[in-house]
Amino acid sequence: MTIKDIMPIPDLLACRRLLCVQPHPDDNEVGAGATIARLARAGCEVTYLTVTDGSKGSRDPGAVPADLARQRRAETEKAAALLGVRSCRFLDIEDGSYPDARGLCRAIAGAIRELRPDFVLCCDPFLPYEVHPDHRGVGMATMEACFFAANPHFIALPETAAAAWDVSGIALHTSAAPNTYVDVTATWELKFKALAAHESQFPPAALAQYRVYFDFKAAGYSIAAGYSAAAGYSIAAGYSVAAGYSVAAGYAVAAGCGAASAVAPGAARAEAFKVLSPLHIHSNVDTQSC
Ligand SMILES: [Zn+2]
Repeated sequence: MTIKDIMPIPDLLACRRLLCVQPHPDDNEVGAGATIARLARAGCEVTYLTVTDGSKGSRDPGAVPADLARQRRAETEKAAALLGVRSCRFLDIEDGSYPDARGLCRAIAGAIRELRPDFVLCCDPFLPYEVHPDHRGVGMATMEACFFAANPHFIALPETAAAAWDVSGIALHTSAAPNTYVDVTATWELKFKALAAHESQFPPAALAQYRVYFDFKAAGYSIAAGYSAAAGYSIAAGYSVAAGYSVAAGYAVAAGCGAASAVAPGAARAEAFKVLSPLHIHSNVDTQSC
């Protein structure tokens, strides 16, 4: 018996209802766009919850925040539609405003109780060296919401009649400690169509530059997970294997920029996640390494 037998890593690809919480209007596509498209194609009902209005997402001193917020909302809806997302919700909190943690947790927990997703997806708030407060704050609030949405006593939500709801899994993208690799070879191009919909963030020349990095990482994850183009998916099975993946991914990435040019178009691609169950996110000494 291993710790994984006691606390299994939930199967992300078994997800039938997915709530994707994102700090900014493009984070879902950046971190998980191809996986979202794969799940939607398989019949999963996907909802986006965008926390901030994205109004600070420009270094152009002439940009008008209110105009940018309107543009980014439209970009969010366009990108989501391209990936097969059913609906988009917006909290419209000011971008970069250090939102109140408890209020944010309540808002996300309310959405979880109403939508009853089996999986919730967000950015990993434990990413080392992450400085953006929206990513740290929204990631943590989302994990807290997953935990407390199941407890009717801890967060009473008089504004919603929805009953407490226990999610099966939490999938954290942009994680430095992934344990799940999803083969997204079939939906990889859709990710870039959706990213291109965010014209304010990814004009064509910039997206082409980002793509070199995305292709490189996705090929590395694919190699790390032992994929071929024909493979399905696999979840890192147990701690010793997970450590092996980590080392393999590290060496693949450490191969450096020269290797990036060797990533062939059409080669296998994977996106990586730290997938956890509610058992993993409170007083659990094994979560870091699982
Ligand atoms: Zn962001």
